[in-house]
Amino acid sequence: MNKCELLAPAGDFRKLKWAVEYGADAVYMGINEFSLRAYAGNFGLEEAGEALKYLHERGRKGYVTLNIYPWTSEFEPILDCAKALEEMSADGFIVADLGVIDAILKAGIKVPIHVSTQANTTSAQTALVYADMGCSRVNLARELSFEKIAEIMDRVEDRIEIEVFIHGSQCFSYSGRCAISDYLVGRGANRGQCSQPCRWSYHLTEEKRDGSFMPVFEDNRGLYLFNTRDLALYDYVDRLQNIGVKSLKIEGRMKTIHYIAQVLNIYRRVLDGVSVSDEEAITLLNRISNRGYTKGFMKGYMDPQGDYKTDSADYLCDSRMVGHTEETNILQVNNNIAGGETLELLDHDKVTMYTMPKLMKTTNGALKQEVNNSMRVIMPEDFPKYAILRRIIK
Ligand code: SF4
Repeated sequence: MNKCELLAPAGDFRKLKWAVEYGADAVYMGINEFSLRAYAGNFGLEEAGEALKYLHERGRKGYVTLNIYPWTSEFEPILDCAKALEEMSADGFIVADLGVIDAILKAGIKVPIHVSTQANTTSAQTALVYADMGCSRVNLARELSFEKIAEIMDRVEDRIEIEVFIHGSQCFSYSGRCAISDYLVGRGANRGQCSQPCRWSYHLTEEKRDGSFMPVFEDNRGLYLFNTRDLALYDYVDRLQNIGVKSLKIEGRMKTIHYIAQVLNIYRRVLDGVSVSDEEAITLLNRISNRGYTKGFMKGYMDPQGDYKTDSADYLCDSRMVGHTEETNILQVNNNIAGGETLELLDHDKVTMYTMPKLMKTTNGALKQEVNNSMRVIMPEDFPKYAILRRIIK
């Protein structure tokens, strides 16, 4: 049976390690100049080499995003970068621009090309054009229903791999093909600099009353016409796997380690055949910042009553990360913790409760009844590494 790859974001090396720990089969990362997430942290070339080595030693893959729409003068540096990454054994380049695809292929660079969702591929015919050019994979547009994806799978057969976004933020426009950010703040979405003005609150102004902003209410909080909910397709994993989709991609190179760990905790279990109920999935997904969840276009239509959007610019979240461990059993405290407090523990494929000792020993030798975010606590030897402690806030 087809087994989907679970593809996770890696905004920087630290997040990459969390993604590996929590079961990503592959990660995607940006190179400083040539990525669509200019503010995600990203990797320098040398660091990308170290990251690829780290991944390969653990049997995982690393794809590098080269998905800006470049200016004419930028092709040469992109090709230099692509050649260097080929030397470092990058497993794939994520590319949106036709000219960049052509230039990489013509330069004889052997790294597989994955066509980015930013290329907005919505049909088998277009996917097959990319196959004929020599591309290895297409990440389909997020704006497709399951039936349309199945139709594409039928037609492309094995001629090109198909990847689908399974979780994360969405654009109100076709992914990234929007210039609101360029117009309002001079930051281009297709240069990785989107300031996400689609999430903002909007008012009405009358031509002759400059500076007078009249609130327009769709509810008592204001007007949030374009603020999309987050995609959450954990219940489509089996169906997408059954029709032969090769890779399931999680959005979010700007997101936190808490997001990476929690999202992968769910999708890894689902892909490994562990049953995760709708109730459990939504409960756990609400532990991390979100804008409400939707199935997006997957079911073929949007509910005009608000299925696609939220009614506020605020994020929802019913937990606060209060501490985490990484490579050792030292707990980095992120928020005040009281001795004896019972917290939720996210530990790879498990979510359990954990009660802190009444007296917590800090790394400077003090015994404390309460610790705060400047402190590090020595946890018992068997306390899990790469684990997150969080407080539920209802
Ligand atoms: S403003 Fe919103 S819709 Fe436009 S590119 Fe940015 S995130 Fe996407």
